[in-house]
Amino acid sequence: MHSIDMDLVEMTLDVMKYTIDRISNVTPELGAPKKEEELFALVGETITPKGIGGETAFKLFKDILVKATVPIDHPRHLAFVPAAPTRAAIMFDLVTSASSIHGAYWMEGAGGIFCENQAMKWLVSLTGLSKDAFGVFTSGGTAANLSALVAAREDWRTRNPKNSEFKGLLLTSISAHSSIQAMAKVMDADLILIDDDEEYLTGKSLQLAIDTLKPFDRERLFAVVATGGTTNAGIIDELDSIAEVCEKEQTWFHVDCAYGGGALAAPSVRHLFNGIEKADSITIDPHKWLFSPYDCGAVIYKDLELAKNAHSQKGSYLEIFKDEGAHGFNPADYQIQLTRRLRGMPLWFSLAMHGTEKYRDSIERGIELAQIAADKIKERDYLELVRPASLSVVLYRRKGWTPDQYRDWTYKNHREGIALVTPTKWKNNGEYETISRFCFINPDTTEADIDLILNTMK
Ligand SMILES: *Cc1c(COP(=O)(O)O)cnc(C)c1O
Repeated sequence: MHSIDMDLVEMTLDVMKYTIDRISNVTPELGAPKKEEELFALVGETITPKGIGGETAFKLFKDILVKATVPIDHPRHLAFVPAAPTRAAIMFDLVTSASSIHGAYWMEGAGGIFCENQAMKWLVSLTGLSKDAFGVFTSGGTAANLSALVAAREDWRTRNPKNSEFKGLLLTSISAHSSIQAMAKVMDADLILIDDDEEYLTGKSLQLAIDTLKPFDRERLFAVVATGGTTNAGIIDELDSIAEVCEKEQTWFHVDCAYGGGALAAPSVRHLFNGIEKADSITIDPHKWLFSPYDCGAVIYKDLELAKNAHSQKGSYLEIFKDEGAHGFNPADYQIQLTRRLRGMPLWFSLAMHGTEKYRDSIERGIELAQIAADKIKERDYLELVRPASLSVVLYRRKGWTPDQYRDWTYKNHREGIALVTPTKWKNNGEYETISRFCFINPDTTEADIDLILNTMK
């Protein structure tokens, strides 16, 4: 298994051929899931004492299993938040694996961590945070949010050890991502969701929410989470005024830009994020709008030391890493994971190869596609925009459709390999209405793709 023989050579060639074919295919088949029993009937048992052989296993994957997956980079996959990793980033993901580097500590990972940090330096520069700010790559936005909020709580407890005696409290808006609620549970923190009259959270309603807290709850408040591009609608909270309130109230200000973070590189919308430079921590997912392969999130801190206080692991076998001879940036100190893949390396290579301007242009194209789609919706009498396109998200309705019709339409388009576009809900006059939603990421989606999808709604 660890020897180099003909089987290895053949398997390697198979894998390289598959990889080259896949990344040069601009419209991969839009696969769909099958039931586990169905897949098992087609594939059979694959793990046996003697092994089924690389050729057989790979054939099962190519012919059956991968077809039961949805390629996230398909130009007409506009559901949830799709992705479109660059070919350079995908190829360097292979290189990252082949290089077998441990990404937790500088002592073992220096050269690879250097690459990650170069990419991180660019990300930090987009936020406008001071030059002392820095960050680290995580498995995704969920892990980045958790890492940031744990750092916030640790800071709150360090400033007043009495705070260790009770649960912390978080404030965010009803439009925040589900991971905030989920991570509050993981942390055993309480969470209050603010329902603003506006479509976004404002400093004014945050102040009101804080003012109405009971004195004990006010003491328990350790962080406010704003969203820089809601997943559902691409809406950005009023970061400037929220930052002011957080500063006045001396509470940690976290901005979740997992989806929207890429737009910090887009001059046409950058002003919408004003105030983000006052954040204590920021989440950005390069695997969403910065064209990295899964999985790659990032968390950025205004003050890295506060993250280290919360996350640095201690163990007798780890002490060598604190030694002068091993001195350097240790990613393990700033997020929840110890052993880690150098998941920022694919982003680094692609950025180094293409330069930041191509990133800017590809992100701007996503925003432009959303505007184009909005115009096309306005032109069609059977459709209606629900609200103006925001970042790369478009919310629209098919006049007269019931929720079941949206659902059936989604399945039909998916089954026929046309597109994956899923319904969502939007609050309209106090009630939740089922509507349709596009989220653009892939710069290779065309106007003809949009027409094709909209025409299936006639
Ligand atoms: C996607 C998303 C997350 C979760 O990120 P994962 O990478 O899926 O863990 C968190 N917040 C926002 C705003 C998101 O869009």
